[in-house]
Order: sequence, then C-alpha cells, then structure tokens
Amino acid sequence: MIPQTDIDAARDLLGRSARILVICHLSPDGDAIGSLLGLGLALRAAGKDVTMACPDPVPETFRFLPHWEDITNAPQGAFDITIVVDTSDAGRVGALRAAFEPNPDIVFDHHVSNLGFGRINLLDTAAASTAEVLAALLAPLNLPMTEEAAACLLTGLVCDTQGFRTSYTSTRSLAATQRLMEAGASLYSISHDALHKRSFSAMRLWGEGLSTAKMEDGIVWAKLPLSAKRAAGYGGNGDADLADFLGTARDVKVAVLFVERPDGKIKISWRSVPGVNVARLAMAYGGGGHEPAAGAEIAGSMAEVEAIVLRATRELLRELSAAPKPAH
Ligand code: 5GP
Ligand code: MN
Repeated sequence: MIPQTDIDAARDLLGRSARILVICHLSPDGDAIGSLLGLGLALRAAGKDVTMACPDPVPETFRFLPHWEDITNAPQGAFDITIVVDTSDAGRVGALRAAFEPNPDIVFDHHVSNLGFGRINLLDTAAASTAEVLAALLAPLNLPMTEEAAACLLTGLVCDTQGFRTSYTSTRSLAATQRLMEAGASLYSISHDALHKRSFSAMRLWGEGLSTAKMEDGIVWAKLPLSAKRAAGYGGNGDADLADFLGTARDVKVAVLFVERPDGKIKISWRSVPGVNVARLAMAYGGGGHEPAAGAEIAGSMAEVEAIVLRATRELLRELSAAPKPAH
C-alpha cells in the first residue's frame, strides 16, 4: 500500500504546480501510453499546462486513444515539475532523462524492480498496472476522472492484465475497472482495439518468430532478427506481443524471446509461470519488470546473447528444482 504521507505530499506538490511534464518509458506498451495519457488528460482537466512525452513513437495499436498525437519525444520549455509513469528506473526513459536529472518529482509505478528513483514514489507492486494505481489515486490527488482519462487508464489496465488474465489481476483491478467504466470508458471497444485486433504484418512477424521456436528443459524460446521484421513488413519497434504468446505454451516454466534491435543490442523478454521469478534474471542484466514478465537489453550477437541467457535461465530453473519445497 502507498503511504498516505506520500499521497498528501504529491497532492500538495501538484496543487502548487502549473506547468507539468509527464514521461513514460522507451518501447511503450499499453500501460505506459494509457497511464501517460490518463494522468496527462486528468491534469489538463484540472487546469494544468501539461506536456506528455515518450522517447519512442506511439505504437499504431494505441493510436485510437484520445490525444495520442499530443505525445512528443522532444518536450519544449520549462516545467515546474516532472512526473514519470510505469517506469522502474531513470535509464528507461532514454534521452528524456535530461528533463529531470537527477530525479523526477513524482513516480507512479507498479514494477517490483522499481528503484525508488523519484523524490516522491507512488509505487504499488501489488497492482496489476500503473493505470490501476492512477485510477485509485486521481480522487485523493484532487484530479478529475474524465471520460477520456478513464478510456486511457482502462487501456493500460486491460493491456497489462492481458484482459484480466494475469496472476496479478485482483479484486482491486476489477474495482478500478468498474470505476473507469462508470466514468464512461468502453471495456468492449478498448479490449477490441488494444488486445483483440492486430495488423497483418504483426501476424506475419509471429510466423517468422514462431518458425524459430524451440522447446527444451522447460523453456520455450524464439528469435526475431532484423531480417524477420523486414520479411514480415513489420515497422513497429516491439515484438507485436509475441513474447506473451510464447508464454502460453503448455508444459513450460519459462518463455524467452530474443529481438534484434537496430543499435546492435538484443532485447530479451521473459515470461514465466508462478513461482519462477524472471525479474531477478532481467535485473541481473540491467533490466527489470515483474516476477512473471520481465525484459532487458544485452549488447552482443544473437547467438552470443541466446547462449548466455539460456544458460542463466536453465540455471534459475535448476536452482528452483533443487530448493527444498516449502512446508504446508
Ligand atoms: P516486455 O518483455 O514486454 O518488453 O516487458 C515485460 C516487463 O518488463 C514490462 O513491465 C516492462 O516494463 C519490463 N521491462 C522490459 N524491458 C525492460 C528493461 O530493459 N528495463 C526495465 N527496467 N524493465 C523492462
Ligand atoms: Mn505496467
């Protein structure tokens, strides 16, 4: 639970501030964009002059959200305060870090790997999404829940819970959903636009990735070299949710996806079953995330990174199978 003193401090700071910069992380997912817009639009409705920034372009999937075009990668002017959402460490905002060095004023997040890098940290690691944290906090922070803000927050919640299916989905996630729907957000159209529908090039990318898939020792893994993106005609920055799909494989403990980046690094995404903490692995490589879903970037060739990461993942599973079972 978030300490009341931190909520009070954030409310007072927001009350005193007129020009506010809100930032989310690189390679934004639905929770990053939904939380950025949801908080930004609520602050605007409260009369604030708000700039919303993301270091990477808004993925096409989320271009149905209100005011997504207002998101910039180059914020201009001076700000009274800077807020970071859905981000566990300052390095995850890329060049936008210069906007708040050394620390942002407020951080809203739910990652277990969060380093507490804000001056005020509104961190709830039991929440299924940052949008869920925000949905509960807007009223205590004296911010209005407009219909547009509610639609953005519900998008974040639906995406991070994969449609209420992840292990973190709780009665609090459902209570937040009820509140957001009562404020006018459409669960049907958001689920349809953000989760159900995908582009044909994303489907072809899955085909490319799945053709490389292997399964061994309780691990399923696949690769997306740059050539796969070209072959699929996929222009996006991410994996088109292929890591989540790999995580649906039966009879495995961990799914791993390797995505080659244009800068020569390999992005790794882990997904795991309850009891296997892949955030620990991700953090060992400078990344982060949640126990069942985490990521990191490692410099090196696809073959090198694949070998290193699979060895570490096997090692984690060996340690877990060797550990004494908890007594009942
Ligand atoms: P994904 O594998 O879909 O990129 O991310 C899974 C989870 O891990 C998300 O919560 C995401 O924010 C987090 N994550 C992914 N990559 C990184 C990274 O490089 N650094 C940190 N700190 N978190 C990451
Ligand atoms: Mn999130």
